[in-house]
Amino acid sequence: MNRAKPGQLDLPLRFRQEQAVGRAHLALEGRLVSYTIKRSVRRRAISILVDEEGLRVGAPWDASQTAIERLLRTHGEWVVRKLEEWQVRRTPARHWIDGEPLMLLGEPFTLKLVPEGTGVKLQGPELLVGTAQCGAAGVSRLVHEWLHAQALACFKERVEHYRRLLGVDASPEVHLSSARTRWGSCHSSGRIHLNWRLIQMPVRLVDYVVAHEVAHLLEMNHSQRFWRTVGSLVPDYAARRKALRREGHQYLLI
Ligand SMILES: [Zn+2]
Repeated sequence: MNRAKPGQLDLPLRFRQEQAVGRAHLALEGRLVSYTIKRSVRRRAISILVDEEGLRVGAPWDASQTAIERLLRTHGEWVVRKLEEWQVRRTPARHWIDGEPLMLLGEPFTLKLVPEGTGVKLQGPELLVGTAQCGAAGVSRLVHEWLHAQALACFKERVEHYRRLLGVDASPEVHLSSARTRWGSCHSSGRIHLNWRLIQMPVRLVDYVVAHEVAHLLEMNHSQRFWRTVGSLVPDYAARRKALRREGHQYLLI
């Protein structure tokens, strides 16, 4: 508090600031979250708000940054879920018509419907989707199925590549996941789950996530030894990790 206490010199009102607004960042649940922090002499407790403007924190004038971060971490799961709900709400509607923009391994391509055709085929910068059987209503499902198939084939190949580099004997099972909050996970049984949306990203980001999960086959933690293992597979992993945090959200639009 900066209210005058007995024996404290009180500044003339015009020199006293009543409010201050700033920006800060914090890693929450594996993603970098930036937020607005508004300090006020009138506020008695720290408050957290998530809305269309993102995460906003209200704090008493003298609240420490540590106290604010502790509160955000305590509610980290809730904050990330709310941020994602807003993100989904902001997602532009997909129409699944000619010209719809899509991404595969960092390369943009567009959707083209073929009324007399069947099946899905990538031809140059266009994804040809035959609608003779499914009709226009089935296009979204066909494109998703096609992306899932591309994802599984690519991820299995990359997992195999890094598994061999690490000298892990058994090939892990590779499954697709679609959680909006995580790109990958590795289970103690040796199963690896990778988010199918990764297939939209440049291969260097896919490889970072794959190498990270494969390294967990040896180190089921995030210790220094774990990061050394990741570094042995992907020497510039820190830059890729940063890029994933910075750009990852744009691949959640599908
Ligand atoms: Zn991990």
